[in-house]
Amino acid sequence: MLARSRAEISRSALRRNAELLSAHAGARLIVPVKANAYGHGLGLVVAALQDHPDVWGFAVATPREAEQLAALKPGKPALLLTPAAPEEMAELAALDVRLSVGTAEEVAALPAHAKVHLKVETGMNRSGARPAEAVRLGLELAQRGQLEGVYTHFARSDEADLAPTWRQLELLRGVLDELPPVLSHAANGGGVLSLGHLPGLDLARPGLALYGYPPTNLQSVLPLRPALRVTARVGSVHGIEVGEQVSYGGLYTAGHAQDLATVQFGYADGFPRGASLKAYCALRGERRPVRGRICMDQFMLDVSGLDIRPGDWIEVWGEGPVRLSDVAGWGATSEYEVLTHLGERVERVLVE
Ligand SMILES: *Cc1c(COP(=O)(O)O)cnc(C)c1O
Repeated sequence: MLARSRAEISRSALRRNAELLSAHAGARLIVPVKANAYGHGLGLVVAALQDHPDVWGFAVATPREAEQLAALKPGKPALLLTPAAPEEMAELAALDVRLSVGTAEEVAALPAHAKVHLKVETGMNRSGARPAEAVRLGLELAQRGQLEGVYTHFARSDEADLAPTWRQLELLRGVLDELPPVLSHAANGGGVLSLGHLPGLDLARPGLALYGYPPTNLQSVLPLRPALRVTARVGSVHGIEVGEQVSYGGLYTAGHAQDLATVQFGYADGFPRGASLKAYCALRGERRPVRGRICMDQFMLDVSGLDIRPGDWIEVWGEGPVRLSDVAGWGATSEYEVLTHLGERVERVLVE
C-alpha cells in the first residue's frame, strides 16, 4: 500500500550541516541519533553520514537504540549517553558500544572489555560524577585501560547569557587536567554555535542543529539547512458555504464560501493538535490556513481558487514559507518535540 505522508530526508543537507558544525567547533562530531534520529529515521541518517570524514561516531539514548545502531554496522563508534543497567553491560560491550559511567557502582559493574566515556556532572544535574569523584573514577578507569572519553552536557548553552555554560566547561577542564589524555567532549548544538572552537576538546555532539535547526538567537551563525520536509496526500476536495462549521467541536465557522482539501496527515502522524486554528500550509508559495481542529489522521485546508485534486501532494512543512519552527510555535511546543513525534505511518525516504 502507498504511504499517505512522507518525510524526505536530505542527504546533502545532513552532510553540509555536519561539515559546517565540525568546522565551526574545530572538532569531529558524535552525531546524536537517539529517538529514531530525531524522527528522521535511524537507518537513513546513518546511511547519509557513516562515511563522512567529520563524523567520529553516533550517540544513542537507550540500549535498544544501541542494538539497532550496531545492527546497521555503521563502521564508526557508538556511544550510549545514559547509564546502562549492570545486566545490560556485557551485551552492549560485546557490540562494541561505548558505555557512559558516572558512579562507583557503575564502574564496579563494568565488564573488563567495556570501553567507557566518563560523564561529569557540571550543572545539568541529570547524571554523572561530580568533579572530585570524576577524577577518582577516571584515574581508576584509565589504569584499567578502559577510559576512552570524558564528557559533560550543557544545560543552558542556547541562552544569551553564557556564564553558566562557561562555568560548566571550566569544571570539565578541571577534571581533564587531572587525567591522562582521552577524548573529551561537551558541546551540544547550542554550545557549538555559541562557543565555537573550544581548545582542548576533541569532539562535539550537535543534535538539532545538525538536523538543520539552530536555536532562534543563533540562526545567523551558520547557514544550516533543514534536513526534513513533510508532504501529505490530498484525500478529497469539497466546497462549503458561509456559516458552515468544520471539524470536531465546530471550532471554525466559515465567514466565506471556500474549497477545502482534506489532507491525510493528522496528530497521530505528528501534526501537533495544539496547532489547530493557528496553522498554515504552503501551497504554490502561498500560506493557506488549516480550518478547524486537526484530526488524528487528517486535517482540512482552505484551497480556494487553486486547482487542487485528490491525490495531489501538499507540503506540510519544509524549507519554504512554512517551516518546522512555525509548526512548533503554533503547537506551543519545540522543534525537538515535533520531530520526535513524527508518526510511524510517515514514510521516510532519503533524497539527495
Ligand atoms: C540529546 C543530546 C545531545 C544533543 O543535543 P542538541 O540540543 O540536540 O544539540 C548532546 N548530548 C547529550 C548528552 C544529549 O543527550
